[in-house]
Amino acid sequence: MASIPFVSEIEFDYEEVAHVSPLIQRVIANNPGAFTYTGTGVYIIGDKECAILDPGPLTETHFDALKKVLEGRTLKYVFVTHSHMDHSPLAHPLAEWAGCEVYAGGPAIPTESDVRLEAGDDLSFQPHHTIVDGQTFSGDGWTIEAVATPGHTSNHFCFVLKEENALFSGDHIMGWSTTVISPPDGNMGDYFNSLEKIRARDYSTIWPTHGPPVTDTKPFVEAYISHRRKREEAIIARLDAGDTTIPQMVKTIYKDVDKRLHPAACHSVLAHMIHLVETERAIASSQVHNLKTEYRSASVSV
Ligand SMILES: [Zn+2]
Repeated sequence: MASIPFVSEIEFDYEEVAHVSPLIQRVIANNPGAFTYTGTGVYIIGDKECAILDPGPLTETHFDALKKVLEGRTLKYVFVTHSHMDHSPLAHPLAEWAGCEVYAGGPAIPTESDVRLEAGDDLSFQPHHTIVDGQTFSGDGWTIEAVATPGHTSNHFCFVLKEENALFSGDHIMGWSTTVISPPDGNMGDYFNSLEKIRARDYSTIWPTHGPPVTDTKPFVEAYISHRRKREEAIIARLDAGDTTIPQMVKTIYKDVDKRLHPAACHSVLAHMIHLVETERAIASSQVHNLKTEYRSASVSV
């Protein structure tokens, strides 16, 4: 597998504001975990007149921390990258408190999987405004552009801070880990396209919601794409070798990976398989359908 130059070092204090660039401040919520790494990184953009991105979980401590950071300032926009529980639940309470509105790619689409691969859907999430690709927003000294990046979820958006050529990548690209593509809402074909979209632009910094920023962005995004392509090639090789079930493929492809993670790996292979079928590189038969059923009955928590 191509290796991704992951970055994992991050210095911070929970629920304390840090000035991480001239126009960006960050507060990390105290919700560390398997899917959130050290926690949700909430970005505040601008000075007196500001915007906030992914307010994070709805806890009193976290809400209080953000209120403190925003005291005496005007919050103009609340942006949400996607409707997962570690990103969006505080969006509406915060917007209501500040007297502004919530902007995102759309409401949550529930997933049907039994396997826990993500922080979970914020099913009640519904933005005041559904944004579109290329839409811009501005405040005193800053301009933000919305970039549609479906894949991790169908409603996923990244946001660009034009003045710093910086991309807020949500869960689309993370410095510390690859991202989970969980069908049916997660879509591998869309994900590949959204990665290519980011590769085509040359951002100076990528600020993911979880973990530290990526500063050497081009090689990082290229390695991220190549990792997925290599995985796809490995799956095609297993199909050529005659494997007929996803668990069979996983056993070989992920032989060096902890067996407890194999159900999650099955889900990722399923996402690739759906993409291979959609691009007519594999054929969907009733057997493939059975694989889904067989896989979905697996239950494990990772
Ligand atoms: Zn997510």
